[in-house]
Amino acid sequence: MDKILSRNFHHPHPLNIDEYQQAGGYRSLDSIIGQPRKELLATLKNSGLRGCGGAGFSTGLKWSFKAPDAPHPVYLVVNLDEAEPGSFKDRQVLYRDPHTIIEGVIASSYILEADKAFIFIRGEYRKGAQGLEAAVNEAKAAGLLGYNIRNSGWNLEIDVHLSAGRYICGEETALLNAIEGYRANPRAKPPFPIAKGLWGSPTIVNNVETICHVPFILHKGIEWFQNQGTNGAYGSHIFQVSGPVKNPGFFELPLGTTAREIIYEHAGGLLEGRELIGFLPGGASTQFMLPKDLDIPMHWDGPPTVGARLGTGGIIVMDDSLCPIDFMINLMQFFTRESCGFCTPCRDGLPFVKYQLEKFETGEADMTDIDTLRELCDIIYPNTFCAFAPGALMPIKSGMDKFETLFHQHIDNHGCTHPSHTPSTDA
Ligand code: NAD
Repeated sequence: MDKILSRNFHHPHPLNIDEYQQAGGYRSLDSIIGQPRKELLATLKNSGLRGCGGAGFSTGLKWSFKAPDAPHPVYLVVNLDEAEPGSFKDRQVLYRDPHTIIEGVIASSYILEADKAFIFIRGEYRKGAQGLEAAVNEAKAAGLLGYNIRNSGWNLEIDVHLSAGRYICGEETALLNAIEGYRANPRAKPPFPIAKGLWGSPTIVNNVETICHVPFILHKGIEWFQNQGTNGAYGSHIFQVSGPVKNPGFFELPLGTTAREIIYEHAGGLLEGRELIGFLPGGASTQFMLPKDLDIPMHWDGPPTVGARLGTGGIIVMDDSLCPIDFMINLMQFFTRESCGFCTPCRDGLPFVKYQLEKFETGEADMTDIDTLRELCDIIYPNTFCAFAPGALMPIKSGMDKFETLFHQHIDNHGCTHPSHTPSTDA
């Protein structure tokens, strides 16, 4: 597999524009700018590229929803508000190779006929945003941005926008509100942003990794792109592994690599003496997978075969040194804190879920609490305004199914007897 997103990561510092161009950077634009947009979009659609932010929606299909006579301005919004616990792939490209992002933005904006692109960056990635801003200025000075780019009659500005900082800002419509200067609550969908986004104009929102793939697909072709994947998937993906493994980190690998290879070969396997009891395949808002699922290919359609989803491909490893219920409480601590508070089932329901889980740890739970917890999840899940709370409940609902006996053991033992047990003190 050819490394794409991480191809320049071995350099000791992010490449400046001269170094980037010497390494072949921006060459893809020769085969993109000036070409018929319809044909470029068809290539993208046929390539099988899917959104890398977690949803895996077909990128070409999404872009084809933009009406041919859509009014201008058209906006491209690059989602770099990476806040999913266990996910740290987007920041690698931001900090290590900002020109790869700009090349992707120019190529994508050309196809979409976007007039302006916003790159929305997680607040904590401030230094990365500064580096990207400097790279944007270099690209502007080199004539790659601005007015009548390469005599194509097309203009593009890039605005680097630092988030004020909240998990929900990464939800695409909350993100639009944040850019417009409103409180970052999600908007109702439909209308989808592609029909009515920033200031009511057509807006295409995509994860940064997705955008970075675009120029390479158009430059090197569909066959090349599809050959980068494995086990029926196309392209590469930056997988991330955190938790009790010997070599935690990120690895650009063929999309479709098995969880076993990612965890045991690239991340070095579990720490000495530890045993794998489960893992979240793609960040905190995904469902648990078990050791028996290790040979499932990690692509958009792999984890769904065992009732999970790939999410961001940020694998969180869970070993026998902790209690899964305690682990779930830890996740709920994060989600209750990050709820935007707009709708009642999320604002009041998630703390109640956390409270119910804590009862098992402290020995206050009886058999009725298992039913209460399930009922609570079933009430919250379909009744919230956006996908935040359903995402937060993914590990809880799947944890209750996959570690069911553990809940009974906690009732029988009047609490958690795991050596690691430390009751949560978060209010
Ligand atoms: P989604 O499936 O609702 O939508 C995917 C994309 O397709 C969106 O851009 C949406 O606008 C578009 N779309 C879907 N149907 C459409 C239609 N009929 N017409 C036009 N456009 C349409 O998912 P989502 O809410 O964008 O993302 C959810 C995912 O985000 C989750 O799977 C989760 O794993 C991931 N996530 C990632 C992070 C992170 O930090 N990267 C954080 C939280 C969640």
